[in-house]
Amino acid sequence: MRLALATSAIPSGVRAMARLDELAICSAEEGALTRLYLTPEHAAAIALVKGWMEEAGMSTQLDAAATLIGHYPGATPDAPVLILGSHIDTVRNAGRYDGNLGVIVAIEAVAALHRAGEKLPFAIDVVAFGDEEGVRFPVTLTGSRSLAGTFLSGNLDATDKAGTSLRQALIDFGCDPDAVSRLGRDPRRTLGYVEVHIEQGPVLEAEDLPVGVVTAINGASRFKVELTGKAGHAGTVPMGLRLDAGAAAAEMILATELITTTSGDLVATVGACEFRPGAVNVIPGSAHFSVDIRSPDDNIRNAAVTELTARFEAIAARRGVAFAIQKTYDEPAARCDDGLIETFEAAVAATGLKPLRLSSGAGHDGLAMISLCPIAMLFLRCKGGVSHNPAEAVLTEDVGAALEVLIDFLKRLPAS
Ligand SMILES: [Zn+2]
Repeated sequence: MRLALATSAIPSGVRAMARLDELAICSAEEGALTRLYLTPEHAAAIALVKGWMEEAGMSTQLDAAATLIGHYPGATPDAPVLILGSHIDTVRNAGRYDGNLGVIVAIEAVAALHRAGEKLPFAIDVVAFGDEEGVRFPVTLTGSRSLAGTFLSGNLDATDKAGTSLRQALIDFGCDPDAVSRLGRDPRRTLGYVEVHIEQGPVLEAEDLPVGVVTAINGASRFKVELTGKAGHAGTVPMGLRLDAGAAAAEMILATELITTTSGDLVATVGACEFRPGAVNVIPGSAHFSVDIRSPDDNIRNAAVTELTARFEAIAARRGVAFAIQKTYDEPAARCDDGLIETFEAAVAATGLKPLRLSSGAGHDGLAMISLCPIAMLFLRCKGGVSHNPAEAVLTEDVGAALEVLIDFLKRLPAS
């Protein structure tokens, strides 16, 4: 199956890299990449990508949520649709590969099929979502939630820092906000959502592999912990008579790190911590800190949360410190489809590479798309695992490897 395409020249990744450089010019700032949803630079990026989609044999359309969609027909008119792509919005002062790479690689894959005159038993919709990062408005995944039919029309009233509503920004962009809630796709006609994305982490680099197959987008729980002890003089209060909220917090922070030893599929972080009153000569009277726990497996994550809460309670009780914990965020994991994972693994193995499975610590459009259809992701190694940073970097040969895997994956994929 691969041979037919191998002879029709698998793209090397060179053109994809050149296009990613060209796309990075579409920015609000000179010399840095910032491309927020529904801005002139977003429109400029859409114009570029649209041209590349059309060159690759796709008909294009901008939907009501400003998702650019390139359609490559299947072998039959009634063929189901595979949705393939990523996002073209960025964070402020971003790297050029987050999101954009997945769109460009998808176009290159379709271009290769088009050049070879090949139609698959399914149609391909290459999507360039506009609101994955959620930087401009206090909402996110607007494009993918629209396709999944889970967009809440109340989100149209969300405003950016300048006071412009999402509704008005869509109108100014030439889109019909009232049509966004009608964009939901038919799950019976949708084969899946597949995204190629940079890893944004260090695992593939450590394994010396250009690509890896994603098992799940990790679920996450976040908490705020408040401890109340008793402030006192750092010199006069004997150690045995203290209610030190700071020391209690320190013990809990270490317990948070230790909880991850219960499973290899668990990461836990205390990213913020504050003691009050916060002086060199005062015993901390109160302390508060954040906890972030993630896992590709919701059962493992929930068990860790229960166990950690019990350990916190025990530490607080032993130290006589009042303890309060508040959940601030809870998002279940989005598990990638087993069949799509296995198809990706077969495609990776066919290139002579070891198929490595890994989970995604960051969120992606798949979080929304999973309520429509099965999802899958292929991760690409990035330098130092660095992302959301202008230092983001990938190797041209890795992009070539990802393209080879993606094209082979498409050709292996059955139409049901
Ligand atoms: Zn991204």
